[in-house]
Amino acid sequence: SESVENFTIDEKLIDRIFNPRQEFSHKGTYGKVTIAGGSYGKIGAVVLATKSALKTGAGLTITLAPECGYDILQISCPEAMFIESGTRFIDHFKSEDNTVYGIGPGLGTEGETEKGLLDFLKDYHDPLVLDADALNIISKDNKNLKLIPERSVITPHPKEFERLFGSTENSFERLKLAREKAAEFNVFIVLKDHHTQIISPEGNVFYNITGNAGLAKGGSGDILTGILTSLLAQGYSEENACILGVWLHGRAADLAAEKHSKEAMLPTDVINTFGKVFEELN
Ligand code: AMP
Ligand code: MG
Repeated sequence: SESVENFTIDEKLIDRIFNPRQEFSHKGTYGKVTIAGGSYGKIGAVVLATKSALKTGAGLTITLAPECGYDILQISCPEAMFIESGTRFIDHFKSEDNTVYGIGPGLGTEGETEKGLLDFLKDYHDPLVLDADALNIISKDNKNLKLIPERSVITPHPKEFERLFGSTENSFERLKLAREKAAEFNVFIVLKDHHTQIISPEGNVFYNITGNAGLAKGGSGDILTGILTSLLAQGYSEENACILGVWLHGRAADLAAEKHSKEAMLPTDVINTFGKVFEELN
């Protein structure tokens, strides 16, 4: 009695999902985001994720990062608040209410960071976004997978997917494995690639066709984490946040490539193109 479907994400679907800003609203209407990550030498990753959350409509954005990121974040993202954890890398995660967490960009995999993340996940049960080193930490022990809160969104690139769930012969086998794992752990898997696939726990697969090779650069994934966390905080369902977020990321990249070229475009240019995409949607 299972009816599993494959969808290509098109503009009709995006128009149906997108919620325009309401005139009678305030910052509380658009939710709170906490981007957690960064470590010495990788503060840029959390700057990109934070900017990306800010530029996709979240009401309030907090960055949880080590002390060495304080000046950098306050200067580069003045609209975001800063919460400190550790000096050169995060050593604990403070659990706050009414915020959606996006954890992983630039996080590093130090022992204390690992312990902090696993302790946090042990008593945290709301959906969140896990990316990058958060996934690499989880990959260290198969038992950790059970700690991922149900209905969370995980955003592995192919290497991270392999570390989490094992290697496969080809992309068909990988998709099959992703379907099994999304169902087993009740999570949404955003399998990042040239054509990113979103796999729901129910087994549906959404193919994205926006985006281009100009995204094949460090920082591109960090931006996606910011977008997805921001859309969840704004009240989009997990599935709709993944569909709209992945599409928007790629669409902004396509417009940025037209303007700057695939070679020269940077993740920062992609963030600065979100506005054009929202103009198209509104
Ligand atoms: P990460 O590897 O975590 O930085 O993530 C890279 C991001 O850029 C993902 O969203 C990928 O889907 C996207 N990306 C990377 N390379 C390409 C490519 N050649 N074509 C389209 N999207 C890409
Ligand atoms: Mg990444």
